[in-house]
Amino acid sequence: MQRQSSASSDTHSTSMLDIKRDCTFCQIDRIAPLIMKETQNLRLVADHAPLVEGHILIIPKQHYTCYGDVSSSLDDELFELKQEVRRFFELYYAEPVYWEHGIFHQTVFHAHLHCFPIGPLTYDLEHHGHGQRIHSQEDIRSWHQQNGHYFYLEDTHYGYLFPPKPETYSSIIKNVLGPAVTAHSSYKQWRLPQERQIDGKPLIASVITRWKEFEHDEQADARSS
Ligand SMILES: [Zn+2]
Ligand SMILES: [Zn+2]
Repeated sequence: MQRQSSASSDTHSTSMLDIKRDCTFCQIDRIAPLIMKETQNLRLVADHAPLVEGHILIIPKQHYTCYGDVSSSLDDELFELKQEVRRFFELYYAEPVYWEHGIFHQTVFHAHLHCFPIGPLTYDLEHHGHGQRIHSQEDIRSWHQQNGHYFYLEDTHYGYLFPPKPETYSSIIKNVLGPAVTAHSSYKQWRLPQERQIDGKPLIASVITRWKEFEHDEQADARSS
């Protein structure tokens, strides 16, 4: 709340405001039906064109270009929310995999972390060169400051950051993410976002229902303990 009111009173430059006006994730009315949870600075949102059931996004309320650009004051909140997503996924689906395009290959230019219940990854990231092992959000920020664009992949064991090379990106999609998505989906072929949007309606309804159950049960557990 506090953060929101300070953000709205910020004196952004006109160009900054222009970007926000064009930005899907800044337009609350566009994503409102997909919002599953809000914390002080973050939103948990069902992806509008899910690759699998459970495909959700963690999006800062304020406009940042990518998580490398997000203030360290949000680190704890992000960590907590990722833990909550992990508990949800492990109860209803499978282990989480987190994925960020960075600015590289983004379709919405507002920081968002994709959460997929498609883990564990069978591909051994340790043996996939070019990536840098990441231990905290601070590592992502310093990489972003020094090197700019990146993309990011994390499962329950490791987090890796990659330089924005098209061949590395394609290789990770083809050899790591793609097979894990296919293994957890009834669709075995790559589908366009428009197709996923139509096919995704029941998946979105289902994940939102399950999330409500999950939150209800967690709250009941907290009360009884
Ligand atoms: Zn935005
Ligand atoms: Zn994305």
